[in-house]
Amino acid sequence: MISPEIPVPYVLAYSGEAVPQRLSFAEDPMSGMLRLSHRAPRPRSDWTRGVLLARIRTHQRGEVMWRMLNRHRQWQCMIRHLCQVCAGPATDPATGRLWWVITETGFRATESAGGLTNAPPTCPACIPASLRFCPQLRKSATVYTVGGVEFAGVLADLYEPGPGGQAVFAGERNVFVGWEEFAILPYALATQMVVRLHGMEPAPHLSPEAALVVAS
Ligand SMILES: [Zn+2]
Repeated sequence: MISPEIPVPYVLAYSGEAVPQRLSFAEDPMSGMLRLSHRAPRPRSDWTRGVLLARIRTHQRGEVMWRMLNRHRQWQCMIRHLCQVCAGPATDPATGRLWWVITETGFRATESAGGLTNAPPTCPACIPASLRFCPQLRKSATVYTVGGVEFAGVLADLYEPGPGGQAVFAGERNVFVGWEEFAILPYALATQMVVRLHGMEPAPHLSPEAALVVAS
């Protein structure tokens, strides 16, 4: 059971926020090529950098989905460098570096002090409670500070065009698609933003509680 005093991270999805994705393939007015689209498209808000965004509500009603991130709030945390728990700034005012909790499953190293993740930053005030309460973090979390963040791409579900412009699920979910993968972006429904972290350094201990992390 989840006890009531556990803070519900800002970034988590709620059951009432899910929206059925009604998809089809339609001609892109710019390129004339087929691309994945919502059936009632909203051209100003449906696409970012050529990729279709999964629709989601943001009213935070229903049950908390402890293993799912709300696409809109995840995106907002990444773009504005907000803490995924309290939605406050995750940048250290003294150093300008960002605080980041890294887990084995949510991170892929791509350089000696950097890599890809879809987990937003966490501010120092929220780190001890996150490490204490989140079962996934208790298993394999390390706290870092990060020198730079770059938008790398998305996690997406992939579709292919069927008869009459139908969107047929291609069998792959949560596939990483980079912003430069122009051949794949028109077939992708983005569910999370992925960023590339640079200049990662193990963080100084925040408190005795935070130090327990690595040990457990
Ligand atoms: Zn916070």
